[in-house]
Parts: sequence; C-alpha cells; structure tokens
Amino acid sequence: MTDKTIHKTIIIGSGPAGLTAAIYAARANLNPIVFEGNQPGGQLTITTDVENYPGFPDGVLGPDMMDLFRKQAQRFGAECFYKYVSKVDFSSSPFKVYVQDEEYLAESVIVSTGASARMLGLKAEKELMGYGVSTCATCDGYFFKDKEIIVVGGGDSAMEEASFLTKFASKVTLIHRREEFRASKIMIDRVLDNPKIEIIKNAVVTDIFGSQKDGVSGVLLKDTIDGKERNFDCEGVFYGIGHKPNTGQFKGIIDLDDQGYIITNPGSTLTNVAGIFACGDVQDSHYRQAITAAGSGCMAAIDAEKYLEDL
Ligand code: NAP
Repeated sequence: MTDKTIHKTIIIGSGPAGLTAAIYAARANLNPIVFEGNQPGGQLTITTDVENYPGFPDGVLGPDMMDLFRKQAQRFGAECFYKYVSKVDFSSSPFKVYVQDEEYLAESVIVSTGASARMLGLKAEKELMGYGVSTCATCDGYFFKDKEIIVVGGGDSAMEEASFLTKFASKVTLIHRREEFRASKIMIDRVLDNPKIEIIKNAVVTDIFGSQKDGVSGVLLKDTIDGKERNFDCEGVFYGIGHKPNTGQFKGIIDLDDQGYIITNPGSTLTNVAGIFACGDVQDSHYRQAITAAGSGCMAAIDAEKYLEDL
C-alpha cells in the first residue's frame, strides 16, 4: 500500500525526543505523523520514577510522563501510529519510509529511534530471557520476590536496578567486570549502604544455567584477573550493561559512527543527508537523559522547519 500524501515531516520513534519533536513540529504546522515503533514511549516506559525531569518536583512515573508527552503532541495535531518502520529510502526527496509493505512519503524525516538494552551474547540468555533473565528491573522485579538474584554491570543503570530490586529480592549480588565502577558516586553510595546488596568485582558471567520450565538456577562466573571459573547460585539475572542505538534500518543510508550512533553536525540535529534529522539517544552516546533527548527533539523540529522553509 502506498499513501500518496507527501507529508511535511515523518517522525520515527516516540521517546522524549520523538514526541518533543512532534509537539514542536505540530505547532509549526508541519502536521507530523509519528511512527511510534515497538515500544511506544521508548525506554521511559520501562522505568519507574523519573525524579530528575524538571517540572515534576515530586517525580513522575516514566509511562505517565510519556503519555503526557503524547497527549501534548496530539493536542496540536500530531498523529501517532503504533507502527514499526522496517526500511527507509533517503536517496531522493520525497523520502520513503516503509512500515512492512506500506510506503509513506515525506519532505523531511526526524529519526528518534533511541537505543535498546545491550546483551552479553550468551547462548543461554536467548532461551532464558523472560524465564529468569531480564533487561528491565522495573518490568520484572516483582517476579523475584524473596529470591536471590544478580545484576550485571557497573554503571548507573546497574546501580539503580540493584537498589530497586532489593524491594523484592532477598539478596542482590552486583557483578562487575573490573575494579572501578563507571556509575556516579551517589548511585554507588546507595548500593554500598544497602545491606541486601553484595558486590563481586572483576568477574564476568560466561554462562547461565536453568530452563524455561524451572527458571534460572545459577551462573558461571569467570574471574577477569586469574581466569578461574566458578558456579554461583541465583534465581534471577538482570542485565544493566548499557544500550545500543537502534539504527539497523539506517546502516549505509545515513552516516553512523563506529558504535552505530547517527552522526549529527555538532550543535544541530542535521545528518549527512539534507532533510533527515536525528535526535535523542540514537545520536547521543554521552548524555542519554530524557531531558537532553527532549531538548534535541525540539532542535530537530526547528531544524526541519527551517529546512522546509528554505526549500
Ligand atoms: P553505561 O554507563 O554504559 O555502563 C554500562 C556498564 O556495563 C559498565 O559498567 C560496563 O563496564 C558494563 N558492561 C558493558 N558491557 C559489558 C559486558 N559485555 N559484560 C560485562 N559488563 C559490561 O550504561 P548505563 O549504566 O546504562 O548508563 C547509561 C547512561 O544513562 C549514563 O550516562 C548514566 O549516567 C545514565 N543513567 C543515569 C541514571 C540516573 O542518574 N538515575 C540511571 C541510569 C542511567 P565498564 O565500566 O567496564 O565499561
């Protein structure tokens, strides 16, 4: 199916970046359509309290905040669709955006597809994901009531997940691959102060034991200093090892850096293809905050508006 309309702006992705772009683009009469992807609202829909977004002095639940973003965009006429963009063709204008075999045309495209949880790449994780292995403490923590679990990682996400999971688990062991943590001091201190959390440093998980029927029973830990391996009993495994950008559809089409993040001109959201803009975590491996994503979403809409004006 081809929708013959040439849209002024198509926004791909619906986290803080995409929906802020939608608010600004809608208010600039660009009549944006938003393809929300497989996780409408983005990563904030799998977090609990957001305490650092200005304007919410008492905090706000991530999913609630994204509902507010979407409502605000729709109030100004943005149209949001629960559709996943599988392919794009940016070789000439109007640009083509595909949802399976549906083709959509646009004079400008804002890419805000965000990032996804990184995996360890173990064979067992594929089989046991959802059966004791999880990348989302907020989503799955409740299932680990009074159980002993591990959290892998040494950044802010791992610290946050470990602290959060102590609400349910009887014991949380944080496994980190080296001596120093990447996380901020305040997050590390919270973990160190929590009597339910133990820390194992200089270790990596090299296998996970269990079955879909009975869940996780333990992991194989490898010491990164002496290389020795040992079994470690646990009933749940949470990954907090960062994220990778969702740019599979854009490989070879717009310039990406060596980690797969979209390259934008410094201080703007312009990509190497005129008329294609990128905002949020898909082009930011450094700040990765809701507020910075929202800020860059605003920039993308303004950049797109200026581009369309100049056409
Ligand atoms: P991150 O900062 O990239 O940390 C990832 C952690 O996972 C690192 O400790 C890393 O180890 C480890 N890791 C990566 N790949 C691994 C592997 N294959 N095996 C074992 N360990 C592995 O990611 P993040 O913690 O998700 O944080 C991302 C951004 O969001 C950061 O800017 C962070 O400050 C922010 N954030 C903030 C908050 C908050 O303030 N409330 C909460 C969550 C996230 P190495 O250290 O050895 O590289």
